[in-house]
Amino acid sequence: MEPFKLIRVQDGQSAINATLTAGSKFIAGGTNMLDLMKLNIETPKQVIDINKLSLYQIEELPNGGIKIGALVKNSDLAYHPAIAKKYPVLSEALLSGASPQLRNMASVGGNLMQRTRCPYFYNADFVCNKRVPGSGCGAIAGYNRNNAILGTSAQCIATHPSDMCVAMAALGAIIHVQGVKGVKTIPFSEFHLLPGQTPHLEHNLRQGELITHVEIPPIAYAARSHYLKVRDRASYEFALTSAAVILDIQNGRILKSHIALGGIGTKPWRADLAEKVLNGAIANQQTYRAAAEAALSQAKGYKDNSFKIELAKRTLVRALTTTGGIS
Ligand SMILES: Cc1cc2nc3c(=O)[nH]c(=O)nc-3n(C[C@H](O)[C@H](O)[C@H](O)COP(=O)(O)OP(=O)(O)OC[C@H]3O[C@@H](n4cnc5c(N)ncnc54)[C@H](O)[C@@H]3O)c2cc1C
Ligand code: SF4
Repeated sequence: MEPFKLIRVQDGQSAINATLTAGSKFIAGGTNMLDLMKLNIETPKQVIDINKLSLYQIEELPNGGIKIGALVKNSDLAYHPAIAKKYPVLSEALLSGASPQLRNMASVGGNLMQRTRCPYFYNADFVCNKRVPGSGCGAIAGYNRNNAILGTSAQCIATHPSDMCVAMAALGAIIHVQGVKGVKTIPFSEFHLLPGQTPHLEHNLRQGELITHVEIPPIAYAARSHYLKVRDRASYEFALTSAAVILDIQNGRILKSHIALGGIGTKPWRADLAEKVLNGAIANQQTYRAAAEAALSQAKGYKDNSFKIELAKRTLVRALTTTGGIS
């Protein structure tokens, strides 16, 4: 690990001012940052500890939505009664991630900003366009079983690793940010970037911007929701495939659906094509399979991960069946 200066800040403005110094990075739970620093993948000159900021509240809003502070721990969010009752998809996604110890440390802001688990990214002996722009991609011609099949480019096929973010993509969360120019909001769909020609650019947060909280909009029918994660072992493992499903069903017909997929996209993947099939259709196996076919219609498999195309379809069908039943 490279030497760095540690600064502990007490308020948001001090955090923002401190991060304007070149080579600065925030640290929250440290569960991703410290690993990256120990491997010299990230070498910040200055680390700004934001854990003293008062961003730990979970607040029910008058409009029925929920405001979640950026420092709320993943476990606290998962077990909050309003989240468990109104948005089970989010609670289930959080509880499927990592291990209890990690969830007790991991923050909402840090989870949004966590970096890919592509093994070539974590090993400086290999080329990686995300780590060293223009150096090449070890995974495309190499071992790519865990890599992405949606949103890939010729430069990078790294999977976005978060479970929480898949639920938030389905819920259409709004990210609130404080920066030198004041406060702003970023719709969830615009927060993470596709790799394209610039895989080292992963999100829409600028230097000097701090995530302060995430807002979950009111969705009256989100109590009927579910997160299903398929992985190599039952705990402490990232997703091979996952599906977040929210359905508004009346008299056996799907009035509205929110679908997002994980483990297969270069960003948390909102499956608009599946939603188009589901909205207005009868809730049955035929509809669910058609939605899954649409969701994966643009998937591109690589040497070791083509199996994910069918696995992702089955994951979505299972999640839809659990959530919507069969009429
Ligand atoms: C062994 C292991 C297994 C895991 N398994 C899973 C899994 O199955 N599913 C899953 O979803 N995740 C998993 N994770 C990832 C874990 O969820 C993340 O490491 C965690 O959410 C990051 O949160 P943190 O608070 O520790 O972030 P940190 O490590 O402190 O920071 C991560 C990044 O976020 C930035 N940051 C933090 N807070 C803010 C803020 N408020 N504003 C702007 N930037 C900020 C930091 O600068 C840094 O770049 C796993 C991690 C480990 C180590
Ligand atoms: S897939 Fe992306 S993160 Fe992985 S080696 Fe290629 S460029 Fe690096």
